[in-house]
Amino acid sequence: MNLTITGYSTALFSTWFFVDDLALLLDCGDGAVAGLLQKSRKVRMIAVSHADRDHLNGLPQFLQINARERGLPVVLYPRDCGSFPALEAFLKEFDRREEHGVGRNRWMPVIPGLSHPLGKANARILPVASRHIDTEPGIVKSLGYLVVSEHNRLRPEFAGLSEAEIVTARHTRGDAAVIETVSETLLAYSADTPIEPADRWQRPKILIHESTFLHVADAVSRAQEMRHSALDQVLPMAADLPLEALILSHFSTRYGAGEIRRAIREGCHRIRPSFPVFAVLPGEIRRDILSSRPVWEP
Ligand SMILES: [Zn+2]
Repeated sequence: MNLTITGYSTALFSTWFFVDDLALLLDCGDGAVAGLLQKSRKVRMIAVSHADRDHLNGLPQFLQINARERGLPVVLYPRDCGSFPALEAFLKEFDRREEHGVGRNRWMPVIPGLSHPLGKANARILPVASRHIDTEPGIVKSLGYLVVSEHNRLRPEFAGLSEAEIVTARHTRGDAAVIETVSETLLAYSADTPIEPADRWQRPKILIHESTFLHVADAVSRAQEMRHSALDQVLPMAADLPLEALILSHFSTRYGAGEIRRAIREGCHRIRPSFPVFAVLPGEIRRDILSSRPVWEP
């Protein structure tokens, strides 16, 4: 599946990514609906990573225009964060035109490790814990999201058989002996996160990862460094994954576009990733990112 992803992501200001094929919006920063226009009607699920303004400030406008019958779009948010029920209550009070369904969309608290069906491509969305917001143990106030697709296939030992032989095998040995369910991570979205080991992302085909800083040393404090990632950490981590593409995002506006592209190319020359690397630069909406020109190609 070739995903059509459009997004905007600038540290401090706004972040959102629309995955057309999955009717999914990842975060809903300022300008999401203005950037997507009619396409925003397609969104069935909005997965919000945490309650920083730059990741949810687009919700009032997005829901005003797009809340509709059957509780759509569903807004997913980290269960332990009280800001979301507060925002839900406020918006429902603010938007009281019931006959249009405004304010009727469903808000769904989620926890890491428990997935929810997306209603598209046999895919489920799986929240993963993020250390972006530091809390007591067992409490999670910030998340990343994985999109995992499940499908059935013949177990390898039955691969060469004819259709009739497979039917017989299923009959005599039972389905489970012949068919296996494989899950595949189509997409991983880091949202805001300090760098994590590669296995956090479960071998995704596409990884959208934040890269607030170009160099770890650019973080002005230890606290900043513990909340965000730097390009010189993300590239070596991502190189360990069997990616089809890496999308870098959430750059700080302290860097110019040329400086970011140069740093990515230099980093990739050293590390030689086996996949193309795309970048959503500060202030730009990048449409159909994976069809656009990568900053680096193997
Ligand atoms: Zn952010």
